[in-house]
Amino acid sequence: MVIENKFEIGQEVYVIRKERVKEKCSACNGAGHKIIDGNEYYCSKCNGKGYSRYETKEEYQVKGLKTVTLIKSITQLQEKELIPQTVIIYNVDSEGMTLKEVPEHHLFTTKEEAEACCKELNEEESANGNR
Ligand SMILES: [Zn+2]
Repeated sequence: MVIENKFEIGQEVYVIRKERVKEKCSACNGAGHKIIDGNEYYCSKCNGKGYSRYETKEEYQVKGLKTVTLIKSITQLQEKELIPQTVIIYNVDSEGMTLKEVPEHHLFTTKEEAEACCKELNEEESANGNR
């Protein structure tokens, strides 16, 4: 079977990954403390950390230039129809770190494309109310 891969081994690509991001504490705006009438008060909402663990969310982010090290095709069952479908996944390497089994639609040749896709996916998620 011929694998129709969009990217080649050794090619440099931009990868998007879903990762937890910390949101600034809304009570102290990320400072960890509040100043009221010239006095500094420790922020109790975030315990002085500047971010609240209750406000972390998952977001797609662009991970710089990575090098494709492995191309693999796997057959997956589609969740709804239960039809086997062949998908192409990639391992990409950056500074000794390997991101494994990245689907083809999460790889891009330009940063602009990767950023646009991240934005779209993140907007979709917030529209669905998934936080
Ligand atoms: Zn705070």
